[in-house]
Amino acid sequence: MVKAVVGANWGDEGKGKITDMLAEQADIVIRFQGGANAGHTIVNDYGKFALHTLPSGVFYNHTTSIIGNGVALNIPILFEELKSITDRNVPMPKLLVSDRAQMVMPYHILLDQYEEERLGGKSFGSTKSGIAPFYSDKYAKIGFQVSELFDEECLKEKAKRVCELKNVLFEHLYHKPGISPDELLDTLHQYREMVEPYVCNVSAYLDQAIKDGKTILLEGQLGTLKDPDHGIYPMVTSSSTLAAFGAIGAGIPPYEIRQVVTVCKAYSSSVGAGAFVSEIFGEEADELRTRGGDGGEFGATTGRPRRMGWFDCVASKYGCRLQGTTDVAFTVLDVLGYLDEIPVCVGYEIDGEVTTEFPVTYKLEKAKPVYEKLPGWKCDIRGIKNYDELPQNCRAYIEFIEKQIGYPITMVSNGPGRSDIIYRKR
Ligand code: GDP
Repeated sequence: MVKAVVGANWGDEGKGKITDMLAEQADIVIRFQGGANAGHTIVNDYGKFALHTLPSGVFYNHTTSIIGNGVALNIPILFEELKSITDRNVPMPKLLVSDRAQMVMPYHILLDQYEEERLGGKSFGSTKSGIAPFYSDKYAKIGFQVSELFDEECLKEKAKRVCELKNVLFEHLYHKPGISPDELLDTLHQYREMVEPYVCNVSAYLDQAIKDGKTILLEGQLGTLKDPDHGIYPMVTSSSTLAAFGAIGAGIPPYEIRQVVTVCKAYSSSVGAGAFVSEIFGEEADELRTRGGDGGEFGATTGRPRRMGWFDCVASKYGCRLQGTTDVAFTVLDVLGYLDEIPVCVGYEIDGEVTTEFPVTYKLEKAKPVYEKLPGWKCDIRGIKNYDELPQNCRAYIEFIEKQIGYPITMVSNGPGRSDIIYRKR
């Protein structure tokens, strides 16, 4: 049984918490896209952790954690992260790295930084983790695949070829020092030594696991609106954030993905640039940001304050549709307990017309939110375990949103911890 846990919106919906929670019943947790540019925050018996590369199943003894071929693998960061959790008494996880995963190289990170500098005010708000240069190189067929670390001839030839190409940019576009093939080769040898014990033919491993009836979780990063095809291009990430891509980024048949848990946060937040129709500002935003998440809505990787907004039914309906949602996990609902009334964006007004269909980017930039206000519940809902025990107005909020987005909310998260979850019968 393969399940995907993915985001409906801009990311930071609480996928880490939901994956960590579902991993209790899983044998394998696999990251299938993205890199160390975004983070999941997880609160469990060992403490509070920000994971950037490791799958959110690493806290259990019974799970195998896999870095799939679709991931932008930053080897030093992976090993730093492993150390950071084992230093805090988490047992060393069982880890496998796909032999077909490609590696983020130090020059990708430099290129990302230099390009953001060059763009100045017109930058994309990149986290400067090298992700866009990495995926560009992957598709330009000049990336380094983990398997290639074990073919010395290929490495030597490619290191030389890549340096020639990159040095044109370094020297002539960015006016920075170039990189040397010997240094690059050295780095690649270090990476080989670090990763060798974990390298695996992951698609063959998963094929057997599926035959053996194992439960496999595909863990997505970011959300639908950051997908390079279906998101708010060009303010998107560089790999597909959709559950469908889980089949590719892990190496399994698409029809094996039986459940798609799409995580939706009870209000909106976004990092980076781009249109954000239900965005709020000033004191209203500051209050939601400080109360939001677990200790405030600040980036898990960068620490920068997230942009805040009310729940957006238009974006979330679209986000759930593109994911192929079977279940919605509705998270961080407890945070809204302070509000007298809660605005919900139910439509976009574009050129005088109201629509509930999420538009392409140039139209999105003209969209104004149409709000409906729902009464708040004015109390703390943490600790509640049964849906029927939630305050009436809180259930009304959930059911209103469920109707607007058209996908079943089967889980409601009312706190950051593993056990802060309310299952709803279908
Ligand atoms: P992800 O990237 O989708 O995993 O999301 P993040 O980890 O960036 O953001 C989610 C934040 O909300 C984290 O700080 C979580 O600990 C926290 N969180 C998750 N679910 C809940 C919830 O139901 N209530 C509260 N208060 N916090 C939550």
